[in-house]
Amino acid sequence: MDRRTFLKSATVSAATISATSQALAAVEGGQPPIAISSANGLRATDKAMTLLRDGADTLDAVVAGVNIVEEDPDDMSVGYGGLPNEDGIVQLDSSVMHGPTRGAGSVAALEQIVNPSKVAKLVMERTDHVLLVGEGALRFAVAMGFEKQDLLTDRAREVWMRWKRNLSERDDWIDPSDRLPGGEESAALDIPFTYGTINCNAVDANGDISGVTTTSGLSFKIPGRVGDSPIIGAGLYVDNNVGACGSTGRGEANLKTCASFLAVEFMRDGASPEEAGLKALKRIAENTTEPYLLDDDGRPNFDVKFYAVNKKGQFAGVAMWSGAQYAAHDGKENRLRDCAYLYKRA
Ligand code: ASP
Repeated sequence: MDRRTFLKSATVSAATISATSQALAAVEGGQPPIAISSANGLRATDKAMTLLRDGADTLDAVVAGVNIVEEDPDDMSVGYGGLPNEDGIVQLDSSVMHGPTRGAGSVAALEQIVNPSKVAKLVMERTDHVLLVGEGALRFAVAMGFEKQDLLTDRAREVWMRWKRNLSERDDWIDPSDRLPGGEESAALDIPFTYGTINCNAVDANGDISGVTTTSGLSFKIPGRVGDSPIIGAGLYVDNNVGACGSTGRGEANLKTCASFLAVEFMRDGASPEEAGLKALKRIAENTTEPYLLDDDGRPNFDVKFYAVNKKGQFAGVAMWSGAQYAAHDGKENRLRDCAYLYKRA
């Protein structure tokens, strides 16, 4: 069978799979659609729900949801306005998974494109590959009609410059706040986070499931650093028979445990989304041995969060540390909810 015939028959079997899952849902009696996201995703879950109610495909719904945040200059962890790498260049990572067709696509270290999630979706739909990176990903995006744009906003550039000039006492950078009474500039630009991402997953009335994760990654990262977000199984995993899980937080910890995949496997074995997410976090904690990543009690000193939903529409957000929230639209209301957690902050 040549590749074209194979792709054609794959499309047919994808349609068959989708029809099968619809039939299954019909047998199960249907359910309200669910959209779940990281705490910066209330607009994403709202948009996804509107589209799901109109009968949209689950992946179209979640990608349209996160596009709002990618395009928002005020979210400095995703897309346009995201914090740059150590050279002042915004490099974006994103992945998508489409449950009904078992499709996956992702891009890493992509520059100059506002919506990496749309490019990831096209990698899935228009190529025989799963992951495109850097220059190749950009050339693919341009070939697909995306426009190149400078993603570094003035605010992100100022935060980066402030980081740069405070790196060392022994360089020639001068912080203007050193020359101003009160250090107003420092306070105004004090951005306390180094991580940030949006993940959004949805299950529709038929029990079909999709997810997307998109990010500018760790701020001021070493150029070329790729986090967990575009890695299938780490920053996102979807199995249409089971559920979906995506993550935000310290990508390096997640990359070493493939914890989104792990959480979906726990759900396959019968765990609820909350139990599965907490078990995945426990695995990360067990695998964290570097002294600089542990607190005095031997617990990870960083956060990782998972957003999990199963085929029945049960969902949960979980975090390593207490105090975190996530966004979810349960078909009735769209609001922030408290994450379950492994460790309580003092
Ligand atoms: N997980 C992302 C990364 O490591 C960042 C984050 O979610 O905060 O790139």
